[in-house]
Amino acid sequence: MIPVSCFKDKHVALFGLGGSGIATAQALMAGGAKISAFDDKSDPCERARAAGIPIADLHHLDWKRISSLILSPGVPLTHPAPHWSVALAHHHGCEIIGDIELFARERRQFMTSQGWNEQDCPVIAITGTNGKSTTTALIAHLLRSSNCDVEMGGNIGTPILALGEMKKGRIYVIECSSYQIDLAPSMHPTLGILTNITPDHIDRHGTFTHYCALKERLMTQSRQAILTLDDAPSRAIAERKKEKITVSAQKRLDEGWFFNKSHLFKVHHGKILPIVGLDHITALRGVHNGQNALLAMAACEAMGVDQSRLQTALQHFPGLPHRMEEVGRDGPLLFINDSKATNAQATAPALASFEHIYWIAGGVAKEGGIEALKPFFNKIRKAYLIGDAAQNFCQTIGDSLPVSLSMTLATALTQAVKDAKTDMTTKQKAEEAAILLSPACASFDQFTNYASRGDAFRLLVQNLLRSR
Ligand code: ADP
Repeated sequence: MIPVSCFKDKHVALFGLGGSGIATAQALMAGGAKISAFDDKSDPCERARAAGIPIADLHHLDWKRISSLILSPGVPLTHPAPHWSVALAHHHGCEIIGDIELFARERRQFMTSQGWNEQDCPVIAITGTNGKSTTTALIAHLLRSSNCDVEMGGNIGTPILALGEMKKGRIYVIECSSYQIDLAPSMHPTLGILTNITPDHIDRHGTFTHYCALKERLMTQSRQAILTLDDAPSRAIAERKKEKITVSAQKRLDEGWFFNKSHLFKVHHGKILPIVGLDHITALRGVHNGQNALLAMAACEAMGVDQSRLQTALQHFPGLPHRMEEVGRDGPLLFINDSKATNAQATAPALASFEHIYWIAGGVAKEGGIEALKPFFNKIRKAYLIGDAAQNFCQTIGDSLPVSLSMTLATALTQAVKDAKTDMTTKQKAEEAAILLSPACASFDQFTNYASRGDAFRLLVQNLLRSR
């Protein structure tokens, strides 16, 4: 835990008692703050109370004495409407911040008290619309393989304030969502990494411009930024940022890092250096993972890690569950769990990664549905549609490719396997093909979250392969 001492002897209000809320409350208490915590649901309040956290309805606080409202990132700050706790804090002129901001303040205070400089307590902050978790996990893996002392967390895994305490040379690798950045105005990372930007979470940020501005703020406040040049908003941010390294998974650059034919290259002073191939790294299939690998390798090099070590470590990256995760293989037939792909932008790279696809998609559709995926339809042998979006997706597909309204994941898998086997034994020889769950949808019509959907798929595949 990182005790937050910058609120010592002060009274703070805290709203939102999910995983990061409890960790934040404990870190504040450990640092000597007096806190009053609350949640709209009773279960989280009970869990927090059992963990020794004082619970109080924030309506009844004496707000004149409250220094700050610490808000969980999942709670609406501005859109669709400010949460009542936000309105209360505004009414009393009280600042509203999140756990990443607490970390940033604590880090500054701690570095000053120890006489440390930036290298003594480096922070790598990763943001972007897609690829944040993969890039974060890959950077942590590469640094650890090079014997660095690494703490990884934030929007991935462990809440930031539940990470190990600050030690000289320890590197914090932190995934930051746009919600978290919104609540962290003074986060100044050593390295800021922007994976890409496409429209997302507009319901929470009001406009795409505001969403981009939040990502940009983190890059502006980073000592050095590593950015992709593969989409217009990221390019615009890169143009405005001085201290930067640029990467592209789409085109050769004159300076920076690029990806071509499954290989990473670095260009320095006009000289092109081949770095490493990703061909046989199953956890890093596809051009999108080329982008993630470029960012991660550039980040580690910027941290001063030896290139040769990184190349070997890259081969051993285990990948993350639910992101292009190979959950089974039956001869040339692969079973891929990409349940984390909850929008069309995230599904596009999965479809781009295979040539012959039996595609399982559907759930709760995002705005735009699967329109953007039409260019990939010629690689799909058949689509198996599930959940609320099934009828709607069926209309978008029209007669471009064969479709089955499977409705459930289990039916979709059974039908896909049957079709794949028939194709293999009849017309299609033994080409590699993929049964791909990459839903382009949220999961909550049929599952608790994307992870339970992916777990269900993995289990179905394992049972199916076992019964053969
Ligand atoms: P995030 O943490 O930003 O949601 P993840 O690494 O968890 O990103 O990946 C989420 C989904 O996005 C996966 O389905 C994956 O296939 C896709 N994805 C991963 N990296 C990228 C990228 N660089 N560009 C576009 N899509 C990506």
